[in-house]
Amino acid sequence: MTAFWTEPDFDAHECVQLVHDRASGLTVIIAVHSSHLGPAAGGTRFWHYNDPSGAMRDCLRLSRGMSYKNAMAGLPLGGGKAVILADEQRIKTPAMLAAFGDAVEALGGRYVTAEDVGISEADMVAVSQRTAHVAGLPVAGAGQAGGDPGPFTAYGIYLGIKAAVQHKLSKGSLSGVHVALQGTGSVGGGVARLLAKDGAKLTLADINSDRAGVLAQQLGATMVSSDAIMATACDVFSPCALGAVLDDAGIARLDCPIVAGGANNQLAREGDGAALAARGILYAPDYVINAGGIISVAIEYVARRDGRKGDVAEVNRLVEQIPDRLKAIWQESDATGISSDVVADRMAQKLIGRA
Ligand code: NAD
Repeated sequence: MTAFWTEPDFDAHECVQLVHDRASGLTVIIAVHSSHLGPAAGGTRFWHYNDPSGAMRDCLRLSRGMSYKNAMAGLPLGGGKAVILADEQRIKTPAMLAAFGDAVEALGGRYVTAEDVGISEADMVAVSQRTAHVAGLPVAGAGQAGGDPGPFTAYGIYLGIKAAVQHKLSKGSLSGVHVALQGTGSVGGGVARLLAKDGAKLTLADINSDRAGVLAQQLGATMVSSDAIMATACDVFSPCALGAVLDDAGIARLDCPIVAGGANNQLAREGDGAALAARGILYAPDYVINAGGIISVAIEYVARRDGRKGDVAEVNRLVEQIPDRLKAIWQESDATGISSDVVADRMAQKLIGRA
């Protein structure tokens, strides 16, 4: 058996904890990558892994990603992640969620959790019965930060696409700019609606073709099959579904000058950012452009911790800083010839004291 700290994804994580609760059957890995900027924040993934070492790899990689994302979003938070190992039937019980809440509480605020794949708002409400170190809870009133982070993520991506179009194509407006969107769920659907308001030309695809079809009809967009979307000739390809779509084959298929979208971990491997740059494609680093959701979650958490109500206007103010961060990355990339993903990683590493 290999020790997890010899895994390539182990990056001097401050703490990696495995908790097993016999009574409920909960097994969870909680990783705190960095608390340099504040409590380590990142969602909880509930997933079945055929090979449990995949859970450790995910937790290590995703917690490091949260350190970078939170730092680049200017948040007073470090990076962490929890991965609950689901059984094949993905059975999730109230007792498991309670035991998970106890595990988070035992870390005394060093780790703050929220929703991720397989975990709902209702699950987080259950966890919040056992610990205060939770975000992504329902909001009580209008204008109050919290709730579904999807619309804030979408808003940041829309602003990032505008900035990319300005930087690469020298266009100050999205009118007539052709955007091909992969995925029309919470994030992709939100981005499409915002782009449509600005007169962008849209091509949409989703493996759920009914979902893409309804949206295409509402927005006057074209729908293509999910196999065809990456090869669509367009100004901007916006991956808003899965990670790792930018691998050798995916990059070779692209017919666009810009990639800017919301999916996490879009680059399949180290070096894929350089491959995009070599093709003259401007890339918006995923964790910078898709930070709107974590900004909302952070404002909600910090406000609740301090006995205040989080303000949506404050969330929007921070989301509106995303384009400037992207521009700084692209300018440095243009000046140095270093690909934008590596520039972003180096900026983030500096911010968390690991330059
Ligand atoms: P979602 O489940 O609401 O939507 C994802 C959509 O992608 C679904 O409609 C699904 O059918 C579609 N899809 C899946 N595989 C596809 C494929 N191969 N081709 C085309 N469509 C496909 O999820 P979401 O919240 O919109 O998240 C989308 C991406 O953005 C994910 O990678 C997520 O990790 C990332 N992200 C989301 C948030 C957020 O606030 N929700 C924040 C940051 C990053």
